[in-house]
Amino acid sequence: MSANLSAILYLVASVCFIMSLRGLSSPESARSGNTYGIVGMVIAILTTLASGTVLSFEAIIGGILIGGAIGTLIAKKIEMTALPQLVAAFHSLVGLAAVCVAGAAFYSPEAFGIGGMEGITTSALIEMGLGSAIGAITFTGSVVAFMKLQGILGSRPLVFKGQHFLNLAILIGIIYGIVDMTLNGEAFMFWMITIAALVLGFLLILPIGGADMPVIVSMLNSYSGWAACGIGFTLQNNLLIITGALVGASGAILSYIMCKGMNRSIINVILGGFGGGAAQASGGPAVEDDRPVKQGSAEDAGFMMKNAKTVIIVPGYGMAVAQAQHALKEMVDNLKRNGVKVKFAIHPVAGRMPGHMNVLLAEASIPYDDVFELEDINSDFASADVAFVIGANDVTNPAAKTDPTSPIYGMPILDVENAKTVFFVKRSMSPGYAGVQNELFFRDNTMMLFGDAKKMCEQVVKAM
Ligand code: NDP
Repeated sequence: MSANLSAILYLVASVCFIMSLRGLSSPESARSGNTYGIVGMVIAILTTLASGTVLSFEAIIGGILIGGAIGTLIAKKIEMTALPQLVAAFHSLVGLAAVCVAGAAFYSPEAFGIGGMEGITTSALIEMGLGSAIGAITFTGSVVAFMKLQGILGSRPLVFKGQHFLNLAILIGIIYGIVDMTLNGEAFMFWMITIAALVLGFLLILPIGGADMPVIVSMLNSYSGWAACGIGFTLQNNLLIITGALVGASGAILSYIMCKGMNRSIINVILGGFGGGAAQASGGPAVEDDRPVKQGSAEDAGFMMKNAKTVIIVPGYGMAVAQAQHALKEMVDNLKRNGVKVKFAIHPVAGRMPGHMNVLLAEASIPYDDVFELEDINSDFASADVAFVIGANDVTNPAAKTDPTSPIYGMPILDVENAKTVFFVKRSMSPGYAGVQNELFFRDNTMMLFGDAKKMCEQVVKAM
């Protein structure tokens, strides 16, 4: 295939990726966005295979078959609730790939067309240094994120004195290493940069507390994009440069939006420092508290909601665990038939990934018009008769407003306590992901509905 034709096809694939991102920005067009992404990827792979630079089709086809089989298996088996850690694990592979490609290019520059016996070109050395450093940070950072999200490491922020200075010193060391490697082209410096970046990746993510993990996942998404972009420069592949930049930029924009949603500073995220100041209050599976709570039944909830004018439903991670969205839809239809106005309030970090709740509600065919973002609905709780909090916890916790020592302090929350009655559907008194006790459980206008979210919705429907 001629260079011109492959350049045109790469351009078509890039446009498909842009259309894909555009499609994925709304639940209504997400399916077509996915289709554009698949078409773009197929064009990209076929063009690369036909470009005449492939040395071994057997190795590539073998790789596609093995990788494709593993990917299909994971896609079929993975639980919706485990997607964030899967995404983190995949990001780590992109980071590792960037390090491997940079290493391969360093040791066989002639195979990559970036130099020969006389030495590697200066621009390629800079790209390699940057690519390897960003890739290594992405790799270990994503491994830590995976372990935190999977529960292998506690969600408690791990902080120690002088952490920021250590991070800064390592960063300066990496920059010095890249300059030195560019000037002298020594393998020793290449490995020093890589090792320092691996350590920095660990150190950047360890101090992040549970409640702040969403921003980190999207930040690592962005890093993995820039790492892929770096590989693109090393491989002199325009499509990879464009795709990497798209992922890098969209991840950065998402991180910015999430930071705004959670009232965090993007600089702190990049420097890996937030959640740190409140380490003592965060994490831990259970919070000891003997205070009495009001416990209700499905019958109580059914009766009160049926007689309400307005009910606002706040879904959270527990709804995803219980896969309660369909039972919830039935409950909502029932309420609507009784003339009750029902709305959904979605917190930007409810669940375990951006848009988690929107996806589940869309799956259950809940109309988009009934679903509202935090800033559009928060004032409505004051006039609502019932707030029905189903499997959500941190996103309603007033400690975010009142307790400066809390790891969730500053995060905007849904003001459910302003409703006349608040129902919390959950299985026990356990805290949410951030490990912080929720004072609302003990309030006079709160009634706890203990049980699995799906079963509870089914019982409420029966009771109504
Ligand atoms: P939380 O984790 O705060 O609370 C979920 C609640 O659901 C728990 O208290 C749990 O209580 C309950 N629950 C679990 N399983 C069930 C079940 N089967 N039936 C009924 N209840 C159940 O979730 P939120 O959505 O309120 O908040 C999200 C948290 O996750 C935030 O801290 C956020 O920062 C963090 N996060 C968000 C990400 C994102 O991108 N959205 C990514 C990573 C982290 P019990 O065990 O008693 O049932």
